[in-house]
Amino acid sequence: MKKVLVVDDSKTILALLKSEIEHYPDIDAYYAEDYKSAMRLVRERQGGFHAALLDLNLPDAPDGEIVELAIANKIPAVILSATINKELKDSVMKKNIVDFVLKNDQASIKFAVKAIDRTLKNYDVSVLIVDDSKTYRMALRKILSGIHLNVLEAENGEEALKILEGNKSISLVITDYEMPKMNGLDLTYQLRTKFKKDELSIIVISSLNKENVVNDFLRFGANDFINKPFSNSEVVVRINSNLELLDLFSQIKDMANKDFLTGMFNRRYFFDSGTSIYHKNKRNNAPIALVMVDIDKFKNINDVYGHDVGDDAIKEVKKILNENLRESDLVSRFGGEEFCILLEDISLENVSLLFEKIRASFEANIIKSHGVEISYTISTGVRFGMLESLDEMIKASDEALYEAKTTGRNKVVIKT
Ligand code: GH3
Ligand code: MG
Ligand code: MG
Ligand code: MG
Repeated sequence: MKKVLVVDDSKTILALLKSEIEHYPDIDAYYAEDYKSAMRLVRERQGGFHAALLDLNLPDAPDGEIVELAIANKIPAVILSATINKELKDSVMKKNIVDFVLKNDQASIKFAVKAIDRTLKNYDVSVLIVDDSKTYRMALRKILSGIHLNVLEAENGEEALKILEGNKSISLVITDYEMPKMNGLDLTYQLRTKFKKDELSIIVISSLNKENVVNDFLRFGANDFINKPFSNSEVVVRINSNLELLDLFSQIKDMANKDFLTGMFNRRYFFDSGTSIYHKNKRNNAPIALVMVDIDKFKNINDVYGHDVGDDAIKEVKKILNENLRESDLVSRFGGEEFCILLEDISLENVSLLFEKIRASFEANIIKSHGVEISYTISTGVRFGMLESLDEMIKASDEALYEAKTTGRNKVVIKT
C-alpha cells in the first residue's frame, strides 16, 4: 500500500476523488479539507506520503502555499485547480510538480488520480540517462527524481550497454545522439538486438535538426523524441506516457500467462517456461523435481461455506508456496485446486524436507474468510529425476499424487 494525501475544500470534489481512488486497491488515501489539517497529517506521518493530490486554492491557503508544503516534504504532487490563471499555472509548473489538472469535469478527476497512480508506480521503475554532458545528465536527473524514478547514468553508449547487462530492472533509456565511443543511434541499434519494445523503452533527447537522423532512430527502434532544449513538463509527460505503454504491454502479457484469481502463472506459462528448464537440465544430466499439489476434499469447503470462501482458500495456496519456495522455482496454478511446481538445482533429500514442511504449514494454517475460519490439508505427488519428456514427468507426478490421495491424503509421495 502507498500513502496518498488528498486535499480539497470542496466536499463534492473530495467525494468524487474518493470514489475514483477506490478503483486503485494499492492506494491508501488520507483526506483533508484545508491547509491546516493537511499540515497536521503530514506532520503525523512525518512526511511519509508517497504522493499528494492537492487543491491549489484553499480557504486558509489561497496562494498555493500547499504546493510548498508538498515540496518541502519531498512529496510528489499533482495539483488540482479550478482557475485557468495561466500565470499561476506556469509558476506552479516550474516547481517540480508531477502535473497540473484543471478541475472541470469527471474526466479531469479520473485523469488526476491516474497521474497519482503513475507516480506511485514510478517508485519501482529504473531509468538510465545516457549523455556525455554532465550538465544535461544533472538537469534530467533532477526532473526524473522529482517524479520519483530511480535514476542511473552513463556517459556514452558503451557504458550504457554495460550497465544494462548488469541491471535487468531498467525499463527506460533516455539517450543523447552525439557521444564519444558509441553514439545514441548505435546504442539504440545494439539495445534492440537484446530488448524488445515491450521490455525497454528508448527515448532520444537531442537537438535533432537533421530529418534523416529522426528516421534512422525510428527505424532502429527508438520509441520517442524530445528536442533540446526541453521543458520540465515536456520531459515528464513523454516519460510517463512511455511508461504507461510498457505497463499496458505487461498487463497484456499477464492476461495471457497468469491466472485471474490468484495472479499465479497458468498452465500455458508452465509449459512454455517449464519446457526450456526441462531441456536445460536434461542436457546437463541434472535431476529436476516435478511436484503436483492438490487440496484435499476441497469440494466440501465450497459446499459448506460457498464459492467465495473457496476462492480465498485457493488464494492461500499462493501465499504458503511463496513463503517456502525460491524465486527461481516455477510455480503455477494448473487447474481448479491443483498446483504444479518445477524445481531445479535441488537434491532429493531437500525436496523431501521442503514439501514435508509445506504440508505441515497447510495443516497448521487457519484461514479467516467472510466471517468463518477454515483449514485444509494438501496431498503432494513428486517425481524426482529425469524422464524422456516434461509430459512424462508430469504424468509420473500425477501418479504419485494419486497414490497420496488413495492412501490417506495429507501426505507427500515421492517417486524416483
Ligand atoms: P480430493 O481430496 O480427492 O482432491 O477431493 P476434492 O474435493 O478436493 O476434489 P474434486 O476434484 O472432487 O473437487 C474439486 C473442486 O474444486 C470442484 C470445483 O468446484 C472446485 N473448484 C475448482 N476451481 C475453483 C475455483 O476457482 N474456486 C472455487 N471456489 N472452487 C473451485
Ligand atoms: Mg552529446
Ligand atoms: Mg482436491
Ligand atoms: Mg483436483
